[in-house]
Amino acid sequence: MAKRLEGKTIVVTGASSGIGKSTAKEFARTSPKNLKLILTARRIDALKALAEEIKAEVGDGVKVLPYQLDVSKPEQINNFVPSLPEEFKEIDILVNNAGLVKGVAQAPDIKAEDMSIMFDTNVTGLINMTQAILPIFKKRSEGGRGDIINIGSIAGREPYAGGGIYCATKAAVRSFTESLRKELVASRIRIIEIDPGQVETEFSVVRFYGDKAKADAVYKGVEPLTGDDIAEIIVFAAGRRENVVIADTLVFPSHQA
Ligand code: NDP
Repeated sequence: MAKRLEGKTIVVTGASSGIGKSTAKEFARTSPKNLKLILTARRIDALKALAEEIKAEVGDGVKVLPYQLDVSKPEQINNFVPSLPEEFKEIDILVNNAGLVKGVAQAPDIKAEDMSIMFDTNVTGLINMTQAILPIFKKRSEGGRGDIINIGSIAGREPYAGGGIYCATKAAVRSFTESLRKELVASRIRIIEIDPGQVETEFSVVRFYGDKAKADAVYKGVEPLTGDDIAEIIVFAAGRRENVVIADTLVFPSHQA
């Protein structure tokens, strides 16, 4: 697998914490000799700290570019590829991981700003990132080459009460991903969706506007997955032989119903 990833340039969105952070480290550990990682999120300090962590663990074989990017801002995405240093421009893999859930609310109580931030980040941000990177993939041989790995959720398949907007965003990710796969079927561009169940990250804390006690209660009775568990699957999917597409994967902790 390391050989197949060697020399790749990889973008991870939402790399400042949780699944994205674990994914960056897992790519670096798997292919430590010759890899370029572009790590994006809003919290640039966390990305710079992660770059240092990766360097301390695997050395200089992995070049890391921490890049501040808010995926809910189309103008920042438009500027993303043109502003990359030349040596990072030939992107091979995009992990569309940035996402969030804000609030748990029945339909009449959904706040307009929560709805906007979830759609702008989880859906429009993911689509805009895809549009920004696809031209790089498409100019390669055999109709194009590259991987887009979208992080969906069980919530996109099984909506829950009080999660109408978040679930709708992840259902939208699922539809867009499937549609994209069909559009690109004649190429070598692989479209991959990985849908986690419960993973203990900052995600739940963000959902409750920082209330850790409420966040912890979400995992009652279930030993949640870790970001590392999902990262291993993302890197495994990216490391398959070019003709193998791990198209659609649901990952649960053992006791999640
Ligand atoms: P975290 O809250 O730990 O990480 C979310 C990441 O997304 C952070 O790095 C955050 O960085 C980034 N992010 C949020 N908003 C933006 C934005 N506007 N622009 C750029 N980056 C942004 O949660 P997870 O690691 O758990 O979440 C990662 C993905 O996994 C999400 O898409 C989530 O929906 C999905 N998921 C999570 C599950 C779980 O139980 N944890 C279950 C199923 C799916 P920053 O704040 O620095 O911008």
